[in-house]
Amino acid sequence: MHEPTPESMERMWNYAWKFAAKSGTTFHPDREVTEAVITGLAAHVEEFGRPLCPCNFYPNKEEELKQRRWICACDEMQRYKYCHCLLFVGEDGLPITEYLPEGHEGREIYGVVTDPTPDRGRVLGRKETS
Ligand code: SF4
Repeated sequence: MHEPTPESMERMWNYAWKFAAKSGTTFHPDREVTEAVITGLAAHVEEFGRPLCPCNFYPNKEEELKQRRWICACDEMQRYKYCHCLLFVGEDGLPITEYLPEGHEGREIYGVVTDPTPDRGRVLGRKETS
């Protein structure tokens, strides 16, 4: 993966700050974790024009872009408020898993992590249950 420009990094940081505030999440206490994810997202914006999630393997990135499932903020974030990259997490650095379906890998790894700000985020999840 190539190194994104400082301008792209700044745009991605701004996006992430805004989304964290909107969704009621915070950044990981280890800044290197956040920096690595932001770098991956910014590199994808430069390469594909969209912030494709950098924490997955895609057999065909062009096809994945058309599906839109993993464009940040991805469907899992919008539905379950779960960020497997650990970009948008709770203050303890754990991703929120409360809304994940049973058997999801996030539940297996982290157990049940409750949402400290249930009034924010989950735009897609709310629509589906209303
Ligand atoms: S898991 Fe989703 S919300 Fe988290 S960085 Fe990847 S695309 Fe963004």
